Amino acid sequence: MRRTHALQQILRVLFKKEHPIGWSNLAKEPELQDSCNPSSVFRILVKLEEIGLVRRLGSPGRSYYFMLSLPGEHHEHIICTECGKIENLDIDCPVHELEKDVRSSTRYREIYHQLDFFGVCPTCVAN
Ligand SMILES: [Zn+2]
Ligand SMILES: [Zn+2]
Repeated sequence: MRRTHALQQILRVLFKKEHPIGWSNLAKEPELQDSCNPSSVFRILVKLEEIGLVRRLGSPGRSYYFMLSLPGEHHEHIICTECGKIENLDIDCPVHELEKDVRSSTRYREIYHQLDFFGVCPTCVAN
């Protein structure tokens, strides 16, 4: 994979963010606006996902969110369906033990899960 300027900028922005970011918002970040257009941002993100550096949240039909895949870093998320804001939830992972069971019963490796809550954030409720 070529270490393009855009790719480095994407990794830098993702590292700075403490929560996942939607790809269209990512493309609007000042660091990326000059170096690439939204579709190349998406292409690079998919590549980074393939090599395991980036994790994609969300599901088909909704916006995708991207975050760096850091070992040991794990949060559940809440996503605003109005403005697309996504926040880390300050709760202990409720399915940590379950994940261990899944690991031993399926013998899969590099298991992870996503537990996303959706709703309307206070700012959007007020508007
Ligand atoms: Zn909102
Ligand atoms: Zn969890």
